[in-house]
Amino acid sequence: MDKAKMTMEKVVSLAKRRGFVFPGSDIYGGLANSWDYGPYGAQLKKNIKDHWWKTFVESRDDMVGLDAAIIMNPKVWEASGHISGFNDFLVECKECHERVRPDQHLDAVNQNSFMLSFSEMTFKRMEVEKLKREATGDPSSVNEATVSRYEKDIQLLGAKILGALRTIRCPHCGKQEWSHPTLFNLMFKTFIGPAEDTANIAYLRPETAQAMFVDFPLIAGVSRKRLPFGVAQIGKAFRNEITPGNFIFRTREFEQMEIEYFFDSKKSEWNDVFGYWQGEMESWMRSVGMDMDRVHPTEIPETDRAHYSTRTVDFEFDYPFGRKELFGLACRTDYDLSRHEKFSGRDMTWQDPETKEKITPFVVEPTFGVDRGLLAILLSAYDEEVISSEPGKEEARTVLRFAKAIAPVKVAVFPLLKNKPELVAKAREVFDILKKDVVCEFDDNGNVGKRYRRQDEIGTPYCVTIDFQTLDDGTVTVRDRDTMKQTRVSLADLGEYLWEHLQ
Ligand code: ATP
Repeated sequence: MDKAKMTMEKVVSLAKRRGFVFPGSDIYGGLANSWDYGPYGAQLKKNIKDHWWKTFVESRDDMVGLDAAIIMNPKVWEASGHISGFNDFLVECKECHERVRPDQHLDAVNQNSFMLSFSEMTFKRMEVEKLKREATGDPSSVNEATVSRYEKDIQLLGAKILGALRTIRCPHCGKQEWSHPTLFNLMFKTFIGPAEDTANIAYLRPETAQAMFVDFPLIAGVSRKRLPFGVAQIGKAFRNEITPGNFIFRTREFEQMEIEYFFDSKKSEWNDVFGYWQGEMESWMRSVGMDMDRVHPTEIPETDRAHYSTRTVDFEFDYPFGRKELFGLACRTDYDLSRHEKFSGRDMTWQDPETKEKITPFVVEPTFGVDRGLLAILLSAYDEEVISSEPGKEEARTVLRFAKAIAPVKVAVFPLLKNKPELVAKAREVFDILKKDVVCEFDDNGNVGKRYRRQDEIGTPYCVTIDFQTLDDGTVTVRDRDTMKQTRVSLADLGEYLWEHLQ
């Protein structure tokens, strides 16, 4: 299919129609940007996570898993810098009060000027406050000249910021008048216990990563791994995004699959470890059927990197709504372990059992969003084509060409006719045997052509049909999703045939 003709509407409509992803809380009118994974979506998501876990945890001896609590001690988020620094910019349209993240709408030049002016203005505001605070009780001692110079600068910087913002048109009403930008913390707050006071504030984790740092000494102790080794975790994360949207691309509740790979920076060059993980991420993406022509590793400049990162590569994907982040890879150095050591007072080092040397390992972090990954996989698998089902008759078919390893249903079993008990009984028998080993579906609705179309839209690699010949000679037809070729296979060989072809 021509990629230019691929639209989000097509994929969203198929996802809803076939039960991959539904709007959340639908009977109550939904909840903006909340989505539920239906039967095939839940299975697809599970297959993606299982494949990831198998690749990065079970098939390696330098990796262990973790499944940590979502609500952690709030000190974790103080140490990690999330309470002070996990912010997005927010501006409000003066006309219609639409709120947007300006950094997502500015072009590169204006974004640079906006960011520089904003950080300079924040710094100068803090300096003015500090000067005034230091002079409390004795107004004559305020350094008036410095304060007034800073206040003039702040005004000029404010004008520059508004100038940059004026290049953005409100996506709702089209006006270009914006409020002054403010910073908005993205963490979801909650309270532990019945009293809603500040002493009981807790946060839903905004990333799974921190538990892997906090638990590092325990994990290193019980796993007895030697550096380098990694810790992997799959779980929910929550961010109070200002502008969620684009289906499951940006939501407030999502899942991450993250690895913290710990190594001794004196023994391994961090850029080599980084390069190694970039390759591992790419080969995993290939193995789950991502269209690699649409994946673009992008070096993130220092000004846009998180405070802890010395290098970040974002894997961007060509979605129908533009090229945007899919997954990320960052070198977090020893930042997190050192911060947790400082804030908790605990020893976060790893001790070499031979030399007894204590090391604070460096960390390279490959991070994968499950939901964005699933969206990119759906977009990569989606195809439309015109086929001639019978001589002289053309019809359109939509097919999800999932990699076999992650297809939600691997085999569908059909009796040729629903009203022939002997065919139905034989098909049930075959289904009951196959379902013990692979995810199978039994389908006797409509005619075989319709069942093929349905299984194509689910992305089922093989359909097995039991017909009258089966009763005579014990063979069935196996139809391949991608080539649509039908092969006659004996029931005795069916298990092995499918096993081989599903690898
Ligand atoms: P963005 O710039 O798009 O907000 P980010 O750089 O903040 O993303 P990270 O903090 O690197 O994202 O999170 C790791 C991964 O988690 C991302 O690469 C993405 O796959 C996923 N992710 C992050 N935020 C969301 C979200 N709001 N909804 C769905 N997935 C998300």
